[in-house]
Amino acid sequence: MCGRGGQQLCAGCREELSWIEPPLCARCGAPTAWPVERCRECAGRRLGFASARAAVGYDEAARRFVHAWKERGLRRLAVEAAQLVVERLPPPEVDALTFVPAHRGRRLERGHNPAERLALELAATWELPCLPLLERTRGGRQRGSSAVERRTVRGAFRATGPAPRSVAVVDDVYTTGATAAAAAAALRAAGARRVEAIALARALRRG
Ligand SMILES: [Zn+2]
Ligand SMILES: [Zn+2]
Repeated sequence: MCGRGGQQLCAGCREELSWIEPPLCARCGAPTAWPVERCRECAGRRLGFASARAAVGYDEAARRFVHAWKERGLRRLAVEAAQLVVERLPPPEVDALTFVPAHRGRRLERGHNPAERLALELAATWELPCLPLLERTRGGRQRGSSAVERRTVRGAFRATGPAPRSVAVVDDVYTTGATAAAAAAALRAAGARRVEAIALARALRRG
């Protein structure tokens, strides 16, 4: 976000985003050398979701965009984020979308939850219901180093009620998969049989 696009993503900044291209790991969506069912990143992990997909790699350009979107809370950027996702990802075959709930303090501080905004925009485009199915069970940091994320998010969510049979949980950034896994566990405990994870951006491990 250089500012040239005003409140929007300018063509130059959009160009800089790196699309996630197949082949991918079927489960966690990591780019791989050839299509695989499990990759080094997700093998042996209980992730709870059937698949995770994101539109762009979480590199410097994506980080700038996500930062502007989150901190400035511009609705226009949620629309653009949704457009990026819709451009790359097929509509999920699910009964409903939901979103990763914001940490309470963060939500109060920002006045909005980027994941929720993104889910609402995607739901409108894909003509799916967007339901607030999850809540946080306790405080604690959501982001930070991978180790911190992994340690703090297990059991971090519970369902607000019965979950539909299939659900896609939306977040702005997929980091280690721990957040999506915790969300999926809560949804499955509430009756979902299949959970997918969708994010705008995904952290990419270097070979
Ligand atoms: Zn720009
Ligand atoms: Zn994988």
